[in-house]
Amino acid sequence: MFFVDSHCHLMFSRFSNVFEGLSDDLEVQYNVDAIIKRSEEANVKYMLAIGTELSDVSELKSIVDKYANIFRTVGIHPLEAKKHCQLYNREEISYIIKDNCKHNKTVGIGEIGLDYHYEKESKTQQNELFELQLELARNCNLPISVHSREASDDTIAVLKNHSAVKGVFHCFSGDEHFAKQALDLGFYISISGVITYKKATELQNSLRYIPLDRLMIETDCPFLAPTPVRGKLNEPAFVIYVAEKISELLNISVEKIADVSSQNFFNLFKKAHFNR
Ligand SMILES: [Zn+2]
Repeated sequence: MFFVDSHCHLMFSRFSNVFEGLSDDLEVQYNVDAIIKRSEEANVKYMLAIGTELSDVSELKSIVDKYANIFRTVGIHPLEAKKHCQLYNREEISYIIKDNCKHNKTVGIGEIGLDYHYEKESKTQQNELFELQLELARNCNLPISVHSREASDDTIAVLKNHSAVKGVFHCFSGDEHFAKQALDLGFYISISGVITYKKATELQNSLRYIPLDRLMIETDCPFLAPTPVRGKLNEPAFVIYVAEKISELLNISVEKIADVSSQNFFNLFKKAHFNR
């Protein structure tokens, strides 16, 4: 038995805000090598390191080149859309993404999507980049990792226009209706530590509508540490708490949750399967 963290952020150099106020010791403890070592000890055998902006790509490449069990995605997060539309034109974005997709450890495009919670005013740029990156996913024949926050109707509508592209809704926290729409599109649904929170009753209810062969698990670290480690910085080793909570809610063994979610990960991210 092993676990796969289907969505984590290992670009710790970018999370200075997270580290603010923490001791230097903690910063040392949260370097990538230490995190990988702890995840191996916790049986989290594989992880997908998610890109959020184009300046990520070389640092992420060096991480996945160093560790055989880590794969990466390349892509622009919706909250980075405004900045990227100012810094690059479409051709430049396409070139950088396509070029990085040739790399054997780049197994998907992401995270991409729409976020109207934090940035409704960049709606136009977000939609533009979402569409562009969906075209690139189709060209490169790679699945996507989708971020959708308070934008479920628009996200589903855009994805319907790109039905050749498949992927996973990451950090899913929607209701039963949204889950069904995502599943109807042929997408997988990934559950994060949010499921362990007391207030997450809607998500805990949605879980029952996700067939086991469409379920993935993730940390989305360094954010959203699950109970019982809430308040700490999150890391891939903690994905086991997500599996344990799902196991408890569905009354299915943790081993089974580990097996199906890992299988699903490699079914979607085929390039990871062939390069492991
Ligand atoms: Zn993320």
